[in-house]
Amino acid sequence: MKRNLRFFFALFFAKGTALVLKLIGRKGTSMPGSWAIILCPDFLGRMPRPKTVVGITGTNGKTTVANMVEDVLSHCGYDFVCNRSGTNVNTGVASSLIANSTFFGKPKKDLAIFELDERSSPKILPYLKPDLLLCTNIFRDSYKRNAHMEFIVDILQQYIPESTRLVLNADDLLCASLKPQNHRSFFGIDRQPGETAQCRNIVQDIRVCPNCGAALSWEFIRYHHIGRASCPQCGFCSPQAGYRVTQIDADENTMTVDCHGHQQKFPMLNSSTINIYNSLSAIALLSQFGLSTEKIAASMEKLSISETRYKEEEVDGKKVILHLAKGQNPIACSRAFENIRDYPGKKAVILFLDDYFDAAHSVENISWYYDTDFEFLNNPDIPQIIAAGARHWDVCLRLLMAGIPPEKISHTAENHQAAELLSKEGIDAVFILYDVYTIGLANQVKDQTKALLSGGKSAGEQQRA
Ligand SMILES: [Zn+2]
Repeated sequence: MKRNLRFFFALFFAKGTALVLKLIGRKGTSMPGSWAIILCPDFLGRMPRPKTVVGITGTNGKTTVANMVEDVLSHCGYDFVCNRSGTNVNTGVASSLIANSTFFGKPKKDLAIFELDERSSPKILPYLKPDLLLCTNIFRDSYKRNAHMEFIVDILQQYIPESTRLVLNADDLLCASLKPQNHRSFFGIDRQPGETAQCRNIVQDIRVCPNCGAALSWEFIRYHHIGRASCPQCGFCSPQAGYRVTQIDADENTMTVDCHGHQQKFPMLNSSTINIYNSLSAIALLSQFGLSTEKIAASMEKLSISETRYKEEEVDGKKVILHLAKGQNPIACSRAFENIRDYPGKKAVILFLDDYFDAAHSVENISWYYDTDFEFLNNPDIPQIIAAGARHWDVCLRLLMAGIPPEKISHTAENHQAAELLSKEGIDAVFILYDVYTIGLANQVKDQTKALLSGGKSAGEQQRA
């Protein structure tokens, strides 16, 4: 698209807005991009793009993976523009491009790494035309915003440009079905000990062959629709992955990946399956970008998971763990609940599951509680569960329906009183589950919990003292 008068007016206005925001000390907002798109709706199409654009999308894990990819590239000496401190929708991408452009809009850097919201792809992908795009997975997410997975798959099929090279999850048949005509690479994790063809989750979004509708035959189901399957009727099957985790060594904290026949050991930041998928998808993307696997492995030694996603602290031999569990996202919460069940020792769990914006401004849809595996929390090693927030009665009901004995459950409408309901007797760890936008609250409750664990008084008494 040509740059017209309207584009330049939008660009200069956005640059002015960015300057004012900088002067008043506000960083990382998508306001300049919002103005640019209000004034010139096809702004992204007219804005010159950097020579190479790499995108990271998918339902779960995209922020963690984007951060990893950016950290490895920085470590390897690449200079690039990214939307790490902004948002992953069109206005955030526009803001990043504006901030990294010359007066007339020419890009200052040749490389861009963007985390891209899958729901916003119609407003981004046709304009930005990424050279390389990673899709981590496609799951059901907030119903209000994302409807259902087929809807998201449809959007991606329609708006991913033909020229984009894709890096896809071979263990996710929805993700692996994207753009069969494009150049595609796949990643996957080999079948692990104990994995069977039985699904242990409430939600399994693929049951029949997408080609012919016959019941699929599963080699194994890892969780939900993640696994490997084939169709006995038409021969349809999960693709072969070029990047395969062949061995996981939890003691050594390493994983071995077969990268197109070449075996390479990589450090594991965390041994949960989700984090192995995150690391693996970053490795596949970086390898397709052109880095050698040795270089990626060496850079990954220096990484840590962003502390806004997962954070462990220790007080008097007991762990306090902040664990992100995206509100309205049944899969992310089910994964978190299973992680908690599998964590060693006796665990107490504090649940902040209300969606921050819904709790403040509208009526929350709670149907997703019934797609979420609260049943994982029904375990002898989880003696206490505290539900806090406006929807505490609904969460309490769901916990009871999962068969959890009522004496294990406490609940309160007041988020800040959650830690007061905690008893430190007989527990080795406290998990605090929170939504992306409630990290501040989670940190406060974490401090109260630490005070309770270190002193004899309840957290409430500590706070009042
Ligand atoms: Zn079939």
